[in-house]
Amino acid sequence: MKNIVLLPGDGLGPEVMAEAVRVIGWFNDNFDTKIEAEQGDIGGGSYDKHGTPLSDATLDKCRKADAVLLGAVGGPKWDKVDYALRPEAGLLKLRKELDLFANLRPAKVFDALIGASTLKPEVVKGLDILIVRELTGGVYFGEPRGIEKLPNGERRGVNTQVYTTHEIIRVARVAFELARKRNKKVTSCEKANVMESGKLWREEVTALHASDYKDVQLSHMYADNCAMQLLRNPSQFDVIVTDNLFGDILSDEASMLTGSLGMLPSASLGAVRPDGKRAALYEPIHGSAPDIAGKNVANPLATILSAAMMYRYSFNLSKEADLLEAAVEGVLAKNLRTADIMSEGCRKLSTSDMGAAVIAELDALKPKMAARA
Ligand code: NAD
Repeated sequence: MKNIVLLPGDGLGPEVMAEAVRVIGWFNDNFDTKIEAEQGDIGGGSYDKHGTPLSDATLDKCRKADAVLLGAVGGPKWDKVDYALRPEAGLLKLRKELDLFANLRPAKVFDALIGASTLKPEVVKGLDILIVRELTGGVYFGEPRGIEKLPNGERRGVNTQVYTTHEIIRVARVAFELARKRNKKVTSCEKANVMESGKLWREEVTALHASDYKDVQLSHMYADNCAMQLLRNPSQFDVIVTDNLFGDILSDEASMLTGSLGMLPSASLGAVRPDGKRAALYEPIHGSAPDIAGKNVANPLATILSAAMMYRYSFNLSKEADLLEAAVEGVLAKNLRTADIMSEGCRKLSTSDMGAAVIAELDALKPKMAARA
């Protein structure tokens, strides 16, 4: 039995979460591993109820859980609330408190959605990249930081890019381990040519590779070149590992190769604890979409694919994860679409109908999978 916490959050969060819950229920009914889920409040809804976007009670539940699945937080209703109490502050606090240092952002192009990319079909066909971004260190957190007044009357803004050996090694280790389960290729990105922190990053990744991961192919690339290569020839990449700042930019760039926000899942992982478990948060990369919330039109597939990542990375259930991803692919191949990915000749589905279509596809695929096994 696995225990997870569901944090539906604000806006479209509850709608897309409901479909992920249906899918988890299907796996509970059809596979041996059972997942028990309890709900928690986060974001604006939590602020309204408890006066804070992340209560100690919710945080405590998340700490004890095997994994956390989140919808989205935020919305105009809370625009005037103090920054420290905004919905987004609750999510940032959760990531920080669980020490989720490795952010996994897959960018996969489904054949059926190839037209949604702004790049030529032949450039993005079959694309399947995983970006591993360091999430708790680097220039977003480094000290000193601030804006100061200089004696000559000018102002100076300061941020510090800083990485230590263990911060680099733990995130690189995640990347190498993941690559072992994929195409065994890691590209490590930094700016070792102009930054000492980049030089250290390259040296530490090289040393870790030599000692523990010689079976994985490692290459190094300057982050600016990586930004170009992602547009020129993205298929050359398997796993990209990089720091917080470059990862922020490169993962957004890579996600847009797929062209569809409603399709993109993510995972954030913490360190492996002595009991062998690791803190993990799974969430779609999109926000709470206040413009379409409550209308049953949102695309639930990013949240459903986040659940697939949970099966794969938290529970090591790759058969379930493969089946769920194949079901999503199958639904798309049948030209079923939510409004955001709609194109000519396809049938438009509501949020709940898309959830039902995934369940129907799971029902159809399960016997085929059993026959293959
Ligand atoms: P957004 O991702 O919510 O929406 C951007 C656009 O994409 C909108 O037009 C929206 O309708 C569409 N969209 C997003 N998800 C979709 C889905 N599943 N199906 C169909 N269409 C979808 O970004 P935003 O508008 O910049 O932000 C809205 C709120 O969400 C803000 O309060 C912001 O702070 C918050 N936000 C939260 C997260 C998070 O919870 N992780 C991330 C980003 C933004």
